[in-house]
Amino acid sequence: MPRKRLGRVRTKNTNRREALKLSSMTSEDYNVRPDEMKSIACPDCRTWRRIMGDKVLKIREHCISDKMAEGEKRVACPGSDQLVVIDIDVRRWQSEQNRLLRDAMPPENRRAAQQFYKPLPAPAAPVSRIKGKVTLETARQSYLAHRKGCARCVGGQHCTDGGILARRYVLALGQEPARREARAEQDRQARRAERRQSAPAVRKAQWARYGGKVVEAANNRCAERVPGMVCEFGGPQVPLAPQNVEAHDRRQAELGKQYAAWKAPVTVG
Ligand SMILES: [Zn+2]
Ligand SMILES: [Zn+2]
Repeated sequence: MPRKRLGRVRTKNTNRREALKLSSMTSEDYNVRPDEMKSIACPDCRTWRRIMGDKVLKIREHCISDKMAEGEKRVACPGSDQLVVIDIDVRRWQSEQNRLLRDAMPPENRRAAQQFYKPLPAPAAPVSRIKGKVTLETARQSYLAHRKGCARCVGGQHCTDGGILARRYVLALGQEPARREARAEQDRQARRAERRQSAPAVRKAQWARYGGKVVEAANNRCAERVPGMVCEFGGPQVPLAPQNVEAHDRRQAELGKQYAAWKAPVTVG
């Protein structure tokens, strides 16, 4: 059952730690671009999580493991519901990030550093340990994280690692429109498939999912008859005789007298 949200009440629900100030974090470990979904690398589990809220900001509730589907236990991360305070100059932070990202661009297409829709961030990991899918967000953040710690990446100059990460970021940036289109096409196809599925097919799928045996068993179940039950579909039989015959007769007589004394209201034409 959905919980009823009572205005501010849910904001009191925090992990009881002191608010996390962005100024205490590495500038690559959060994203507070005003036009994007706010996100942060959870200090407890080091994965990217959304920051929820408008005025009161909190790290979205999440589990330590993302592998629940593979049967891992559901354990809430202690970083869930962590209050976050933006105590940095967002515009300065943003222009600094943009400047660093522009440096990743080969000179000929530096102007291409436009912002795209940000996919839900993937786990943040140190550059050398990045595995799996490279999204625009991971590419961007890992490039920035590398630059931060690298003395040899200055301006448009990159060390070997920095160069690799810069190219990866630029590549992801270039692929983003196609990726976005692919995502949209996938959605469209899924919706079309849904519509194509006619009602009988849906029922067939449901039947397959819930197992014909279960339904059959429920249908064929012979419930024992409970004394007083009319049938298994109805409730207990309603008593037809009054419980207290004397009181019942008295009440009937009273009603009779009242009825006799009652005069029909005169209708004036
Ligand atoms: Zn966490
Ligand atoms: Zn470097």
